[in-house]
Amino acid sequence: MESNTFEVTDLKQWVYCPRVVYYRYCLPDVRPVTVLMEAGIAGHRDEGAREERRSLRPYGLTEGERAFDLALRSERLGLRGRLDLAVAVPGRTTPGAEAVVVEYKDSERAAGAHFKLQMAAYALLLEEAWGLPVRRGFFYAIPTRQVEPVTITAALRRKVAQTVSDLRAAVVGERLPEAPESRRPCVSCEFRRFCNDVV
Ligand code: SF4
Repeated sequence: MESNTFEVTDLKQWVYCPRVVYYRYCLPDVRPVTVLMEAGIAGHRDEGAREERRSLRPYGLTEGERAFDLALRSERLGLRGRLDLAVAVPGRTTPGAEAVVVEYKDSERAAGAHFKLQMAAYALLLEEAWGLPVRRGFFYAIPTRQVEPVTITAALRRKVAQTVSDLRAAVVGERLPEAPESRRPCVSCEFRRFCNDVV
């Protein structure tokens, strides 16, 4: 585990199946980077380049100071990650300014709880890094170019802290978490061979 921090994407994965995150940290040599993962990373990069030419109008903003592919890290929150796009509205040094987070996703489906948790984690990181309040974020669906707003609620903020705490307890204590109730994620999981108790 790098330093004392987890990747923001770990939170999303934890909601999907906590064991995947556990295996990733406790068996770090067994996970291959799949072709799909590489394609996803490349897709995000391309979208970042396109976004630089796009206006802020899809997010309901008329002006803002943008930062793309922003590296964020907080020992206090126990998190690190790269945010696709941060916007200070109207600018980082303007009195009364706020910031918003934007995440690209390759799916056209509405963002589930795991995506919203990830967005809230980026919001907390950005608040600390820029010293501005982050009350909202947006998902930008690459296939449909649709924008989905998300409110960064107090409940989401608490859930980020709780998930980091649960994650740390599992990884540091090397305690295999419970499998998710649904076995659907198991069908194409690269860790199937380690989950003989459920698949
Ligand atoms: S096989 Fe199923 S329970 Fe095991 S890590 Fe994969 S998704 Fe999780």
